[in-house]
Formats: sequence, structure tokens, C-alpha cells
Amino acid sequence: MQKTKNILDILVEKNITTVNAGYRTYQLNIKKGLKDSGVKCYGTCDFDEGVISLEKTMAHETARETLFHELTHLALEICSLGGDEETGIVPSKSNEEITTLISRAFLLLMTLNPELFEVLNEQS
Ligand SMILES: [Zn+2]
Repeated sequence: MQKTKNILDILVEKNITTVNAGYRTYQLNIKKGLKDSGVKCYGTCDFDEGVISLEKTMAHETARETLFHELTHLALEICSLGGDEETGIVPSKSNEEITTLISRAFLLLMTLNPELFEVLNEQS
């Protein structure tokens, strides 16, 4: 049985170091011992600095989900559902409105970052 390669290693191998969000480029920062406000975590998405950070020691499946989780934070930010700066609370919208906004944001990210989404799709 072939062992699945960790998606974080594949990103490094393929030199995928950024995410094009259209309005700005986010750096992909893979590091050991990642913390958010002093607490250990697997991933963060910093809208002010334009950095998506991922914990280097995650297992493959956790890393794949965390990368997609952080891309979803970015998708929400792109369509102005990033949430209040202090509370993170997103104004309430209908299911249809949220679906339209997020689907368009993901299509934008997928179109601008074909290599990244190819890796995400291949490494299930
Ligand atoms: Zn999150």
C-alpha cells in the first residue's frame, strides 16, 4: 500500500508558497510550534498581514483539512463575511446569500490558484 505523502511537503516540493486572493497575495507560512494568542493551533489566516500559517507537524489529513479551513476563512473575507474585527461575528444573511457569496469566492480562489487546488484535490 502506498503511503500518502503529507500535503505540506507537496506544497514545499511544488514551490507553492502563496495564495492569490485577487485583491492581495497571501504568503503560505509552514512552521513548527504555531500559536495563536499564545495557544497552540493548527492554522491561522491573518487578513491584515496577508499570511496563512500552518503547523508543520500535522498529519496529512489534518493538514489538508486545515489548509482548506484557512482558505475558507479567506473566502469569507473576500466576500466581506470576514466578521467584525473585534468579535469575529458575521452579520446574518440568508442561506442563499451566503451560498452565492462563498461559491463565487471559491471559484475566484480556484481560478487564481489552480496548482494549489490541484494539490488539494489530488491528495484526498
Ligand atoms: Zn478557523
